[in-house]
Amino acid sequence: MKTVLSALILLLSLCWLVPAAHAEGPGGRDLPPGLQIPDAARPGPQFDVDRATEAYLDLLSPAQRTQSDAYFEGGYWIRLWQLLYGFGVAAVLLFSGLSRRMRDLARRLARWRWLQTTLYAVFWLLAGFVLDLPLTVYTDFVREHQYGLATQDFAGWFGDQIKGLVVTLIVAPLMLALLYGAVRRAGARWWIWASGISFVFLLFTIMLSPVFVEPLFNTYKPLRDGEMRQSILSLAHANQIPTDNVVEFDASKQTTRISANVAGFAGTTRVALNDNLIEKTSLPEIKAVMGHEMGHYVLNHSLRLTIYLALVLTFGFWFVHRLMDASLARWGARFGLEDRADPAALPLAVAILGLFFFLATPITNSIVRQAEAEADAFGLNAAREPNGFAMAAMRLSTYRKIHPGALEEIVFYDHPSGYARVHASMQWLKENQDNPTARAALPAAKPAGSEAPGSKPAESEAAQPATPAPAESKPAESK
Ligand SMILES: [Zn+2]
Repeated sequence: MKTVLSALILLLSLCWLVPAAHAEGPGGRDLPPGLQIPDAARPGPQFDVDRATEAYLDLLSPAQRTQSDAYFEGGYWIRLWQLLYGFGVAAVLLFSGLSRRMRDLARRLARWRWLQTTLYAVFWLLAGFVLDLPLTVYTDFVREHQYGLATQDFAGWFGDQIKGLVVTLIVAPLMLALLYGAVRRAGARWWIWASGISFVFLLFTIMLSPVFVEPLFNTYKPLRDGEMRQSILSLAHANQIPTDNVVEFDASKQTTRISANVAGFAGTTRVALNDNLIEKTSLPEIKAVMGHEMGHYVLNHSLRLTIYLALVLTFGFWFVHRLMDASLARWGARFGLEDRADPAALPLAVAILGLFFFLATPITNSIVRQAEAEADAFGLNAAREPNGFAMAAMRLSTYRKIHPGALEEIVFYDHPSGYARVHASMQWLKENQDNPTARAALPAAKPAGSEAPGSKPAESEAAQPATPAPAESKPAESK
């Protein structure tokens, strides 16, 4: 059972908090560090977008591809199991009378209704945490380890879960108290008020969580000085991102995925990279990924997606409203539920909302995916690292099915598929072949045989402060 809050945060975090995750890990599952540019992806008169794309796709072995498909397609089913499991949890709470008893206890402990709601919410979250645990352990711990994506032992993982629970216990009951206040006062129009409250709340959450919540889970420190930092700052300044603050965080203690983000507001804006990204990729990849992240920031995706998703949520609340009243009229008495303002009916409301978001998956995914595609386009233009971006997309594709069907992509993908991203990168490269910037690094066919074949040709470096000579060579840069 996900709370309204955590379901939405999950939704939104798909975009900002795990923006460009990708994997590197144990045992053959991952692509080796460093940029590898297939011959077919080198600019030239014979350059062909489709051939270049296929050449990139071939960087994944059949075994890697099978594993990635299995992991990702398994995720489709997990969505369904989570929905059904959530129904089960709601049924347990309602049929056993537990929900009703938690409400009665809250009423005995507090006089004011808002406080009763708050207390009920705390009990409900705790009960939900325990009842959800078996599925959470499987999806977030066991399965992640099976696929080599997780690095934490159980104690560490569980500690993080407890921290997350504590944060939720501080925030969610207050929000629920507000929502129930709206339900009591606004009558049949509560769902409109609830949407407004949720919108404001989501916005705050998104602005504040990078500053106040994320540091609870990971250590943030200034990015080590060097070419990488300079490149990122240069990219930020060239794109009107008002910060000199570039930080790195130790995500490797939890995961093998890479990620980065640009977040914050006013004085807290900062660019963050996780250590997997820094340790396991190349400078062109890092620049490409950061260009994408900066795209989210510059295009104001946080605000825009919050508005869009709040609109979807408005339909969701309306859906709850209709089904709730009908259900209560029919079964309310049997479960000791009074009316829609009765917190004891919350498990029912959440189950209905869960059903709504399950059905709305193609819509929410498409909203997010479209913003991701915009950030991709922004990033390609800003960083001018098409091969870096294609390579990063390949890394992501070690755990995201790389080439889905068209309908499959619409329904299940909250980012463009690996195929779409590599193809877009190669298209960009083709269209920019005559651009001096794209060409600048072409003679990367370095003199001495030092570099491995996949060094790094078409990389821009242009907009860069000119690090000595071999700057643009860096094959497997960065460590
Ligand atoms: Zn993104």
